[in-house]
Amino acid sequence: MINVTQTFLPPQEEYQKILSESWNKKWMTNRGVLVKRLEQKLSSKLTINNVILTANGTLPLQLALRSLEAKGKEIITTPFSYVATSSAIVWEGYKPVYADIDPEYLTIDETKIEALINKNTVAILATHVFGNPCNIDAIEKIAKKHDLKIIYDGAHSFGVNYRGKALLSYGDMSTCSFHATKIFHTGEGGCLVSKNDVVHKKLLQSHNFGHVTSNTFEHVGINAKMSELSGAMGLAVFPYFDTIILERKKVVDLYNNLLDFSRLKKINLREDTEWNYAYYPVIFNSEEVLLKVVEELNKNEIFPRRYFSPSLNMLPYVDYIACEESESVSKRVLCLPLFVELSFESIKQISFIVNSIVS
Ligand SMILES: *Cc1c(COP(=O)(O)O)cnc(C)c1O
Repeated sequence: MINVTQTFLPPQEEYQKILSESWNKKWMTNRGVLVKRLEQKLSSKLTINNVILTANGTLPLQLALRSLEAKGKEIITTPFSYVATSSAIVWEGYKPVYADIDPEYLTIDETKIEALINKNTVAILATHVFGNPCNIDAIEKIAKKHDLKIIYDGAHSFGVNYRGKALLSYGDMSTCSFHATKIFHTGEGGCLVSKNDVVHKKLLQSHNFGHVTSNTFEHVGINAKMSELSGAMGLAVFPYFDTIILERKKVVDLYNNLLDFSRLKKINLREDTEWNYAYYPVIFNSEEVLLKVVEELNKNEIFPRRYFSPSLNMLPYVDYIACEESESVSKRVLCLPLFVELSFESIKQISFIVNSIVS
């Protein structure tokens, strides 16, 4: 069986060796040595000071949104992302307002944002979908002009550099997911990055119940801490990250050579991007073709995923705003299997099946 992804695991003894440090101390959470070490490693890799490791990639979205302290207000967001991008907005008591996507990049269409801004708008929450950067300059300009905060859902962005800087360093706050299906993982986990030191300090408290000291509290908080088990996993996977990227690049290059692009489309990567090869999305001409491809791949025990479907403006718990491009792409986009140990034979087989159906 071949799934859309397969979790990269280091040799088990390496994980155990790292974990034994906390094990021996009998200290499994509450910002233990391993979580702090991983936080430092990620900070220096990303060259960002304010990194907070979290229990998953959804809580940092909630914490970032909560820190705006504007419950009931509107957040302009993308309809093309994983459901967490929208559900976090609703969960935190805001109203998601959808700007359609650019059909080439699949990121939020910056030209559609300004028309949606009104006196209730407080922030823009956009996703660097598949690790492809949003139009950061344009979004920054709009945010500055209208005094809005920018939050990036960078769940797919670990390891991406944009204009020579970590993609996660852009925006007022950025989030990342280290879920086992993501390119760099800690089993379950994530992080929250913020530009402003005051905001960072507050987020550090709010991710830990709001503790200022053991007996003092200033703001409401939640438990979003990463555990030492996850910290150990992150530290064990981290040394392999460059290899992971190189191996994934090989898979992507092979697909690029083998697939018939006269009848299906790839996404455009934004210029000045050093990509992380996080996903291999292909866009078919119709949902009918996509369904045939899925059926044929499934028959061969190959399970791609429809990332991302449905278009989030169609969710039953949000106010519908038509987003023609996102609704159309969501029906036609499929992520093909992509992981380190995917064999040349499998890539050939998958490409052959896809080509035979589209032609
Ligand atoms: C995976 C993902 C999340 C959620 O991350 P978890 O670690 O699974 O909570 C949020 N946004 C996007 C775009 C994702 O792909």
